[in-house]
Amino acid sequence: MTRSLFYTDKENKLREEVRAFAKEKLEPLREKCTLDREFPREALRLMAKEGYCGCIHDPKYGGNNEGTGTVNESIVAEEIAYVNGAIEMTRLVSATLFGMPLATFGSEEQKEKYLPKLIKGEIIGAIAMTEDQVGSDLTRMQAFARKEGDEWVLNGHKRFITNGGHADVISVFCRTKTVEEEKNARKAITGFLVEKGFPGFKVAFEYPLAGMEGGSVARLEFNDCRIPEDQLLGEECKGFQQLMAELNTERVGMAAACVGHSQRAYDDALLYSTQREQFKQKIRNFEWVSFRLADCATKLQAARLLTIEAAKTIDAHQDATLIASMAFAYGTEMETEVTTSALYTLAGEAITANSSAVMSAHRMAPVMWVVGGTTDIQKFIISREIYKSLK
Ligand SMILES: Cc1cc2nc3c(=O)[nH]c(=O)nc-3n(C[C@H](O)[C@H](O)[C@H](O)COP(=O)(O)OP(=O)(O)OC[C@H]3O[C@@H](n4cnc5c(N)ncnc54)[C@H](O)[C@@H]3O)c2cc1C
Repeated sequence: MTRSLFYTDKENKLREEVRAFAKEKLEPLREKCTLDREFPREALRLMAKEGYCGCIHDPKYGGNNEGTGTVNESIVAEEIAYVNGAIEMTRLVSATLFGMPLATFGSEEQKEKYLPKLIKGEIIGAIAMTEDQVGSDLTRMQAFARKEGDEWVLNGHKRFITNGGHADVISVFCRTKTVEEEKNARKAITGFLVEKGFPGFKVAFEYPLAGMEGGSVARLEFNDCRIPEDQLLGEECKGFQQLMAELNTERVGMAAACVGHSQRAYDDALLYSTQREQFKQKIRNFEWVSFRLADCATKLQAARLLTIEAAKTIDAHQDATLIASMAFAYGTEMETEVTTSALYTLAGEAITANSSAVMSAHRMAPVMWVVGGTTDIQKFIISREIYKSLK
């Protein structure tokens, strides 16, 4: 049930178009990710060709955001995630997590250099914050860049970087002031656009993933990596603020992906419950089966409505901090419950089939608890926001 009064006719039409595209063009590529662990570069090109990497971007650079970019992005994210989690994460990270800070804070030259190619799927983007000692707390970054003539020299590493093994350009966030120079890390972090060919940059390795198979999550190393001065993103020491500014849009995309993965698992389970017979009847006749699926349908719709509200709040230029974290936190927990219920329904059938879409949606659930800030961190934000209303 994806139709709702909360979507306009135009948005419903977009959903139908993306769904038809994903079924025809992406579904045949799904097993290449899940079974062969092939990075979905071809899928990214196909999505870009349809304009799905340009939802949040200005038409000036080839995008198609005419004021409802976040809503459109959430519809695209949901429908692509329905087919495969790795394909959607690859798109979301390149087009939005990398693309948005560039679009918001990049210089005109930087935007002209990268955005049209990114939107066309000719280049892939990534964003690098996490380090061995830096997870939820971004203020502990150790990677450091110092100015030398008209270049910056970056040393350090980044871990768990989505698209890292295949990205052409990565926005890397690091300190540019030592702790002695600036104790407050929020005033010491700067973003740089690092291209894969820059001397001193290397992809150390890609992690063998236990979910999101086919996606690339890599460890990156910077050894005296030389970055031309004009690759600095926005202003020096404003990196932390840049990261915070994009979070709500990122969370809406992630929340929509949770809905997409879960809807697929639920749809497959619902159908199976009408086909499988035990004790001389269809298993849907057992209330434990049909009530479990009824719960799934309800939670799915609740997650979708939170997501659309968050997306519309962003498009209306209102503060979406609370609703975006609600949508994302609820989405991750809903995904865990719904994909588990779907597995229960298919039972041995899902567990013994490596290619099962239900199993692969289920393996996306832990990924979604962690990427883009853990569910605990979303709840911390929600708690901080709700208490503000008492002040
Ligand atoms: C598949 C995948 C892709 C990723 N892609 C990227 C990427 O593209 N770029 C990038 O920079 N990073 C990426 N990451 C890293 C991701 O953002 C971090 O893993 C995440 O922020 C959590 O950090 P951590 O794993 O170090 O956990 P930690 O921060 O060490 O957390 C450990 C536990 O403590 C809890 N915790 C921590 N602080 C608090 C708190 N204040 N309140 C309550 N609980 C708390 C957490 O919720 C968690 O349960 C990716 C990670 C994964 C798994």
